[in-house]
Amino acid sequence: MRVYNFAAGPAMLPLPVLEQAREELCDWQGSGMSVMELSHRSRAFIGVATQAEADLRELLAIPSNYKVLFLQGGATLQFSAIPMNLAPEGAVVDYVNTGQWSKKALTEAGRYARVNVAADAKDANYFAVPPESGWRKDPSAAYLHYTPNETIGGVEFPFVPDSRGVPLVADFSSTILSRPIDVSRFGLIYAGAQKNIGPSGLTVVIVREDLLGRARPGTPAVLDYQAMAAEGSMLNTPPTFGWYLAGLVFRWLKAKGGLAAIGEQNRAKMQALYSYIDGSGYYENPVAPACRSWMNVPFRLPKPELEKAFATEAAAAGLTNLEGHRSVGGMRASIYNAMPLEGVQALVAFMREFARRHG
Ligand code: PMP
Repeated sequence: MRVYNFAAGPAMLPLPVLEQAREELCDWQGSGMSVMELSHRSRAFIGVATQAEADLRELLAIPSNYKVLFLQGGATLQFSAIPMNLAPEGAVVDYVNTGQWSKKALTEAGRYARVNVAADAKDANYFAVPPESGWRKDPSAAYLHYTPNETIGGVEFPFVPDSRGVPLVADFSSTILSRPIDVSRFGLIYAGAQKNIGPSGLTVVIVREDLLGRARPGTPAVLDYQAMAAEGSMLNTPPTFGWYLAGLVFRWLKAKGGLAAIGEQNRAKMQALYSYIDGSGYYENPVAPACRSWMNVPFRLPKPELEKAFATEAAAAGLTNLEGHRSVGGMRASIYNAMPLEGVQALVAFMREFARRHG
């Protein structure tokens, strides 16, 4: 039986995608083998890879002066690759700290560059994005990095920062493809796949061409965007199955009407959940309303002792992985693209019933 899986990542994938992958697992399009067994240099796999890139470009309306890279190492390896590629030795880099993922990104960058924390959400307990008017941006920074959606805190930027000509770099891991964005505002976008793109093991980087060819000496070739772009992300063997599965997800998204359509569905999902939480008089979400994530919805119960019972009873009802991140506790519902509105409605019905029984 399929469950409604509220995990933060690896997360739920669309059922039609899984069914198609199962259908063609042992014999991909008459090749007599699975996609996993195809050479990455074969015409067949190059076709899969090219189509996936074309579909992603169409979904996000990626301008032609951007390269799309299909890489390994997760978003975490990009925390290092970004300063190695974009910051010359001794350069200052601007980071906005809105929670655990931006903190990890800026800590790693500190190994390669001088980090200026342009803004820190500490005063708001990391429950809100600091207003941009108060940021201390360094006009000479090599780039400005931010995390549009903090997966753990459930805090999402309601705006795209104005980096004033400095390349804007964004960790879109947990919000990419959730609705349309204007890619031309960014120098570089990166995202681990395991939430809205496909299976873990694949990382997508979208980088403006003028930022290529700047890697500092000593950068490993597989981390050098220019070298990877020149080889179509096949400087070495790419994660072929993940790339293929991402392609199926992109096609599923296109068939659903693209990002405008999925965005409307995501808006309806998050509104249903937040409005129930706010009106429940039982559950609580601490994030400033303007900065609430569309994808990750943390909430608390009136008594922490009830958390275990909540998770266990929810799982028994087919609603799984609702425990908050191990560092913060509480509960968290991740409602990425593959989570249907019915899943959110089932969660709300369960929450209402739980509150009635335990309230
Ligand atoms: N950034 C964000 C916003 C994330 O949510 C995560 C993973 N949950 C990461 C970075 C790290 O990604 P990975 O595990 O793919 O390295």
